[in-house]
Amino acid sequence: MQDKLQRCYQIQKEVSRGSYFRGVIECKSLGRLVEKLNNDQGKITVEFNFSDSGYDHPILQGHLETILTLECQRCLKSLKLPMKIEFKLLVDAPDELALDSSLESICSEDGTIDIFEVVEEELILGLPLVPMHEGKSCNEYWQSQDDTPDVVMKENPFSVLKKLKMN
Ligand SMILES: [Zn+2]
Repeated sequence: MQDKLQRCYQIQKEVSRGSYFRGVIECKSLGRLVEKLNNDQGKITVEFNFSDSGYDHPILQGHLETILTLECQRCLKSLKLPMKIEFKLLVDAPDELALDSSLESICSEDGTIDIFEVVEEELILGLPLVPMHEGKSCNEYWQSQDDTPDVVMKENPFSVLKKLKMN
C-alpha cells in the first residue's frame, strides 16, 4: 500500500504485482471537474487495484469518496454533496465483452491508465444535473417548474345560456 498516488499506472506491471493503491487527489488537479464546482478546495480519497478479470482483460477496481461543493440552483448558495462511488472497469475490452460481463470498459493509453482521468470521469458522471438543497425551503421565492399552475376553469358559454333559458 502506498499513500502517494502517481497519475499513470502501467496496467500489466501492476496486475502482475497485484498492487493496491490508496491516496488522495486534490480537486484542483481535476480541471474539468472544477469547472462544475463552486470551489476547488475538496480532496478525493481513492483506493484501487488492478487484477486479472478472467475475461482476458485486466480490471481496474476501486472506490472513491469525497465531499464536493456545488451551487444550489434554487438559492445559488453553496451545497455540500458527499459522494461515494464504486467503480469496476474492464481495460481495453471490446464492447461485446463489456456488455456480456455487464461491466463498463475503459481504454488505456498504450497500456497505461491515468487514474486522475478515471476519477474525474466517475465524479462528473455522478454529479446531479441540477444540484439543489434537499427540501424546497432554501429559497422562498422559488417557483418550482414542476408545480402545476392554478387552472382557472372558465364557465362554458353554453351552460350560461342554458341557465338563462331556465330562468
Ligand atoms: Zn438551496
